[in-house]
Amino acid sequence: MRRTVMWFLLLWCLSIPQVSLAESAAKAEITGIRSGPFVDKGLGTNVMRYVFDVSRPVTAEGFVVVGGASSRLSVVIKDAVPAEGLGLEVEDEVVSRASSAVNSVGTQVMLELKQKISMNDFKVFTLPGNPQANKVFRVVVDINRNPNSAALDKQVEPVVQGPQLLQMRSYTHVDAVTGASKIRMVLDSSVPVVASASLSSTPLPRLLVDVKGAAPGKIDREYEFDSKIIDRAAIIPGPGGAGSRLIVDLPLMLESGDYKLFTLPADPKADKPFRVVLDIDKKLPPVQFTFTPGLANKVIVIDPGHGGSDPGAIGLGGLQEKTANLAVAMQTKALLQKAGAKVLLTRETDIDVYGPDASDVEELKSRTTIANNQKADVFISIHSNSSVNRDVSGTSTYFYQKTPYDVMLAQSIQQSLLQAGGLADRRVNSANFYVIKRTMMPAALIELAFLSNKNDEKLLGSPQFQQQMAQGIVRGLDKFFAQASKQGGEE
Ligand SMILES: [Zn+2]
Repeated sequence: MRRTVMWFLLLWCLSIPQVSLAESAAKAEITGIRSGPFVDKGLGTNVMRYVFDVSRPVTAEGFVVVGGASSRLSVVIKDAVPAEGLGLEVEDEVVSRASSAVNSVGTQVMLELKQKISMNDFKVFTLPGNPQANKVFRVVVDINRNPNSAALDKQVEPVVQGPQLLQMRSYTHVDAVTGASKIRMVLDSSVPVVASASLSSTPLPRLLVDVKGAAPGKIDREYEFDSKIIDRAAIIPGPGGAGSRLIVDLPLMLESGDYKLFTLPADPKADKPFRVVLDIDKKLPPVQFTFTPGLANKVIVIDPGHGGSDPGAIGLGGLQEKTANLAVAMQTKALLQKAGAKVLLTRETDIDVYGPDASDVEELKSRTTIANNQKADVFISIHSNSSVNRDVSGTSTYFYQKTPYDVMLAQSIQQSLLQAGGLADRRVNSANFYVIKRTMMPAALIELAFLSNKNDEKLLGSPQFQQQMAQGIVRGLDKFFAQASKQGGEE
């Protein structure tokens, strides 16, 4: 009897927190909605993008309901409810009206569309949150601004008929002597096809192969690579819904001599189908750097961190990191140009370099691409730090030692920044940051000061301090080129 009572009490105690936890944890909140046009030049898509901010990771899916001359896109954001007072006023060239309903699954957002679309004309996907970039988890809906009527007709008959690609195979070959690597991609086709290739450098380095005469069929659509020659590849229907397009995402821009595209006829005796072959020979990265002293004629790429939809860290007084970073970058540019350097900024205004609400990798890669394509001598990324501890203050510089000069560059800049700004030395640190790792030249990432510290924030917002830090960067670069030129001479 006693035991029964105790069990009862124990269960009762456990059940209370469980019930309330279950209620509060069950539903994520949709905290914001925004939209705007988004262009991906490489994919050839031109979409309206609708972004839903969600308080924690959820899953989402979309369905098209076709009726009459228009369509309705129904997007279900699972296990989520709209935050109190969240409006859903959407009216643009694609959507005539939006409404939402909460049901047991989550929130169903209905987008009434001005035109008919097919299942190939929209995409629903999620982007992870990134607390450092002040980004929450997002559900993204892309709707084609120019719905493809050919694809619409195909949707009625989902069974793939006619000529199609059968499979994609790839082989990597590393030359034992030179260490150079090559990659071969082979598309097997059920019929003879015509293939052509083109390079696209914006927003990201890409090689596009258009195959006329065969649809993607049931072939696997996405392929991951190790990023030595290729980041990833995807196969999509060709422009206008005809044929196929192979999209090859590259870590570095190729030149026309770096790849070869050809076809091989079918060989029934050897049981081989018609083949489209793409060979990519990656040039070895420039392992040999030779630096001369002085800033004149140096190609310097400066990357003001964040921008546009991404404010970066935000100070207690409201100063946004993207604003301070850009101010220092612009002043650095002016000083370097005066010294005769060729300076390129990854952004000169308050914009996203890739586009609003791109994935973090897309955004960062578009910045390193600028430096790699320009064959810059050095790359400097300018950021401002933030800490939960408001007492933390100071300047730090990060490097990733991929060339013999990265640490030298970081040390030289850090030393000059300390002299120029007079803040605490938070040292030179090694870090695995994308922009300093994926640039081909010596690179450094600067954290000027802490936006989370009252005094640092005040300094970051003052034109005088911004000018001092810009002078520090310029002196650091000048010292670096002097030191690096001597090192080259000694060897
Ligand atoms: Zn930052």
